[in-house]
Amino acid sequence: MTDSRWEAVIGLEVHAQLATRSKMFCSCPTDYLGAPPNTNVCEVCLGLPGVLPVINRRAVELTVRTALALGCRIARHTRFDRKNYFYPDLPKGYQISQYELPIGREGRLEVNGRTVRITRVHLEEDTGKLLHAGDALETAGESLVDLNRAGVPLMEIVSEPDLTGADEARDYAVTLREILRAIGASEADMEKGQLRAEANVSVRPRGSTELGVKTELKNINSFRFLQRAVEHEIRRQIRLLESGGVVVQETRGWSEAEQRTFSQRTKEYAQDYRYFPEPDLPPLELDPAWVERLRASLPELPPARRRRLVEQYGLPEFDAGQLTLDAATADLFEATVAAGAPPKQVANWIIGSRPSLAPEHLAELIRLVVEGTINREQGLQVLEEAQASGRPPGELVRERGLTQVSDEAALAGVIERVLAENPRAVADVRAGRQQAIGALLGQVRQATGGRANMKLATEMLRRRLGS
Ligand code: ADP
Ligand code: ZN
Ligand code: MG
Repeated sequence: MTDSRWEAVIGLEVHAQLATRSKMFCSCPTDYLGAPPNTNVCEVCLGLPGVLPVINRRAVELTVRTALALGCRIARHTRFDRKNYFYPDLPKGYQISQYELPIGREGRLEVNGRTVRITRVHLEEDTGKLLHAGDALETAGESLVDLNRAGVPLMEIVSEPDLTGADEARDYAVTLREILRAIGASEADMEKGQLRAEANVSVRPRGSTELGVKTELKNINSFRFLQRAVEHEIRRQIRLLESGGVVVQETRGWSEAEQRTFSQRTKEYAQDYRYFPEPDLPPLELDPAWVERLRASLPELPPARRRRLVEQYGLPEFDAGQLTLDAATADLFEATVAAGAPPKQVANWIIGSRPSLAPEHLAELIRLVVEGTINREQGLQVLEEAQASGRPPGELVRERGLTQVSDEAALAGVIERVLAENPRAVADVRAGRQQAIGALLGQVRQATGGRANMKLATEMLRRRLGS
């Protein structure tokens, strides 16, 4: 938010469920959505006595990949710790997490050209879900627990307090999601709870280098809420400080209905959790050669690809952004250009009509339009037919006789007729009302069944009317 006297400081803690098939420390499946309550559970994730957890190798791999993608230093020796707290969403009475030795630290993420430092990336287990009376239960005053989610691999990505506004906080989370998806670490769907953000927010006098007291916003389950919650919290803190109050360090929830944040509980501190090394798991040694192999296997990340599309193909930033929303779209763009169509035209076609066509066919179609064999409208028609039939656009154009009318003599005849039939529009153009040209061109298009070469028709019409 822009306020001349105050500036906002924001750090995000983002949790992402990892895209593994089995849980963090047992072989239960991770697809808890839609499963009947407490069916994807076993002795380990139920916290029964006498059983031992086993580390999920794939979860470690995905966390290392993420940490690498965020430019982190990767720990060589790491371990898990117990975070002790008493709440029935984890029946063990503690969460297995990483405290002192996270898998990754000191990374960075570029957000809109600014660098946000990443403090750490660590691995832990998700908790179960409590259902309270009023959520979905018939019975009043009861709480039920579903432990299907307990033990699902969860990665936490903590940023330094480098974000300076609500928009930037949202863009950071969006960029992070893009990267998680690109490297296959998480499906990162916020609506499904696969990506959850906590925002730490403080304000300070503009120009000050000290941090103000922060509050932590929880219950944020969409990018829009994230932005709104942070925006409101910044405003609340500024109002509070300007009226002589102080910000209390606490956890606040976000009420979308009331569009405000509300106090939930006062802040807990690390010492409250009595962290200690998890005695049931061996230390985790990450082989540097393995880490290097993972680094080499990372795909080009969306922000880098965006920059490359701009530089290599001369595309506007906007186009590059649209094309890199997912890797398949960017792949289609590059393959179509490689098949011989001009980059900007390819970008327009892909962004404008989301074609699902083989690159060679798409390139052929675009060339037919660029070279003037068919016009854009016909191109869209051919696109549809090519998508439905899988046949090459060139063949379809020949077969349907879909070539556009670029013959000056033929067009001149049509134009004369249209002029004769629309004396009003002609008079308008002659009186200097250029918009009337559009109406005449519409008539020309109609008269040729959409086949007129509109560029040529426009030129001829202007010449004829001397406009
Ligand atoms: P805590 O001990 O309260 O968990 P941490 O130091 O672990 O605090 O930081 C948690 C998150 O809060 C990090 O993302 C960090 O960047 C952010 N943060 C810390 N101090 C501030 C502050 N004064 N204002 C905004 N964000 C902050
Ligand atoms: Zn289990
Ligand atoms: Mg913390």
